[in-house]
Amino acid sequence: MNFNLQNLLRENIKNLTPYSSARDEFQGEASVYLDANENAYGSPLEDNYNRYPDPLQLEVKKKITAIKGVPPRNIFLGNGSDEAIDILFRSFCRPGIDNVVLVPPTYGMYQVSANINDVAVKKVPLTPEYQLNLEGIAEAIDANTKLIFICSPNNPTGNSINREDVETLLANFNGIVVVDEAYINYSRQKSFIQELTEYGNLVVLQTLSKAWGLAGLRIGMAFASEEIIEVFNRVKPPYNINEASQKLALQALDNIDQVNQWIKETLKERDKLVLGLKNFSFVIDIFPSDANFILVKTASPKAVYQFLVEKGIIVRDRSKVELCEGCLRITIGTPIENEQLLNSLKNFQA
Ligand SMILES: *Cc1c(COP(=O)(O)O)cnc(C)c1O
Repeated sequence: MNFNLQNLLRENIKNLTPYSSARDEFQGEASVYLDANENAYGSPLEDNYNRYPDPLQLEVKKKITAIKGVPPRNIFLGNGSDEAIDILFRSFCRPGIDNVVLVPPTYGMYQVSANINDVAVKKVPLTPEYQLNLEGIAEAIDANTKLIFICSPNNPTGNSINREDVETLLANFNGIVVVDEAYINYSRQKSFIQELTEYGNLVVLQTLSKAWGLAGLRIGMAFASEEIIEVFNRVKPPYNINEASQKLALQALDNIDQVNQWIKETLKERDKLVLGLKNFSFVIDIFPSDANFILVKTASPKAVYQFLVEKGIIVRDRSKVELCEGCLRITIGTPIENEQLLNSLKNFQA
């Protein structure tokens, strides 16, 4: 393999002079800041937000380093993982020329981001076991294929993708392999973060939106080589993580014990929910899950979905998604919520 990041980048990105903010141009400590046209008087709030936030979120990254063992120079923070996904397209894919490989059924945002950036998508469906079709992927790749997105544990199927298959891609593909680990905290599989030093073409996505319980703050993480992170930092909007989110993330990252306790409880509840659902005759199959949701195949997905809506319980109808025929995706709730779900379904007439 001859992976070369500079050859992979779009020409305009390679030559980009990034925006230079006041905070970039003076980085020391001073007592009077008259360089950024901020309101020096303060904010009409209890806390002050009159100053621009740290563009590179160093304090937040240091806390993430303490948890993940990845140095700040290998971390990019985005306004949700969705920003990291978009930035991958904008950094590597020439609109109207390049393409990416997707392996459906998978997270919908990759396709949307491709469409927004006018980048063609080559779809190589997962096998019936929801694993990679490596031969199909090899056939789909051409000289203009820049990115392959692998979601593991996969949304909406819940299973992890075989590690050796992802490593085969990493070792043989000259573009970027994106491993989206939004649900890794619920999985017993090892994170691909450990492979960053091994593969220069690896980008691992994680998020504070799921296990960390911070979907509303919009903080996603990309872990990659220093060279890739440097590109992302140039392409991103200068202040992409706002000060309120940075402050709250700093506080939240001190509470890992709480998060780990929720993860344990969620896994216990997942097992309980699976056992409970198996009792219903209209449940045909429940797919093994490494995530905080389960994919449930039913004889009448529309009817079950509508029945639950009437009970005030909303699940996700995935029955129109290829390879997910008949399936509902159910997020694991609190013990009380899961109990409500099971109790309601006792009254469902197939
Ligand atoms: C929920 C989810 C995300 C998280 O996106 P954020 O923008 O960080 O909230 C990323 N990838 C997958 C596969 C997801 O299901």
